[in-house]
Amino acid sequence: MQTARLFSENPVTIPFNKPYNLETSLKYVAQAAVSGHLSGNGAFTAKCQKLLRDAYGFRAVMLTTSCTDALEMCAMLADIKPGDEVIAPSYTFVTSALAFVRQGASVVFADSRADHPGIDEDAVERLVTERTKAIVLVHYAGVACDMDRIMRVAGKHGLIVVEDAAMAVDSTYKGKPLGGIGHLGTFSFHETKNIHSGEGGALVVNDERFARRAEIIWEKGTNRAEFFRGEVNKYNWVDTGSSFLPSELTAAYLYGQLEQVKAIQKRRVDIWKRYYEALSPYQDRGAVRLPHIPKYASNNASMFYMVFDSIDKRSFFIRTMKEKGCAPVFHYLSLHTSPFYKDKHDGRTLVNADRYSDCLVRLPLYYELWGEELDFTIGCVKDTLDMM
Ligand SMILES: *Cc1c(COP(=O)(O)O)cnc(C)c1O
Repeated sequence: MQTARLFSENPVTIPFNKPYNLETSLKYVAQAAVSGHLSGNGAFTAKCQKLLRDAYGFRAVMLTTSCTDALEMCAMLADIKPGDEVIAPSYTFVTSALAFVRQGASVVFADSRADHPGIDEDAVERLVTERTKAIVLVHYAGVACDMDRIMRVAGKHGLIVVEDAAMAVDSTYKGKPLGGIGHLGTFSFHETKNIHSGEGGALVVNDERFARRAEIIWEKGTNRAEFFRGEVNKYNWVDTGSSFLPSELTAAYLYGQLEQVKAIQKRRVDIWKRYYEALSPYQDRGAVRLPHIPKYASNNASMFYMVFDSIDKRSFFIRTMKEKGCAPVFHYLSLHTSPFYKDKHDGRTLVNADRYSDCLVRLPLYYELWGEELDFTIGCVKDTLDMM
């Protein structure tokens, strides 16, 4: 994009997100297209899975067509049945809960922390009953939940921990890669995430007891993967499952991105730091709250957000920014008050989740937001805050 044109013709010059295309991705897609194997589980799928295993020490990785798919696989693997309860944060994407509700679970929603939109670890143990089967955690903005505390509660009550690490690629808790700590982990490679393939995702299996069944569920309920490894001489329908494999075209695109993960993260962290430094004075004088990163968590800069103290201030901020040519956006709406779930919720009020629904705003953050465009965006944010 040329900056000269950018400032004159287009009213929204700085979008919220711009998916980053790499030439290597395009080259690999072309290779996959002529390779004779375009369906799933081919050479590029294997390369992506190996790269993720090697880089992060994951036990087993299966690419999926979305994080939602990977979460659905988790619900099947956890053998969720009607009557089971699953604890999940209310302030999250729909499918962190929906994947389990489809299997018949009742979701018991937990509040967010006061200092961070992630799940309130203190609340989790209080919500455990004899019907609880699993805890779904979300590492909001790629910032780790306090995993030691969650794993201790899960161990004490025999619960399965699913890390919805959709935003948490290449992020850590006490140096351990996220997605690799719970029994199961899921990633998203949707175009809004740090590393993307348009739509895409992955399931990480950390607990040996789920390894074989995960492969079967992944391959439409068949033992096709074992057949291709020569472990059985024909493959058959052996369990439940679905069509969770992305095509090789998707895997090829993703591989180009994964190869560049460190460079992509570095640029995003640099943008994040520019925002943080520029906006710290506004936090110091109480105008907004900036992201809090606990000592045990790393920052993969999947998002830069600010929290106002009222919905009116946030609305003013978003409206004014749009007039100036930037497109900030708000984020989740609490799931416990959603049209689909409000009648099924147990009536507890979740003050922090509701506050983030009303008061949190995300600023533009994408690889190409740099130089003049980043200066322009930061200028718009400061001008708008100065008006408030
Ligand atoms: C993006 C996101 C999802 C959904 O990912 P898809 O790949 O679009 O299915 C789920 N959970 C969280 C926390 C997300 O941020």
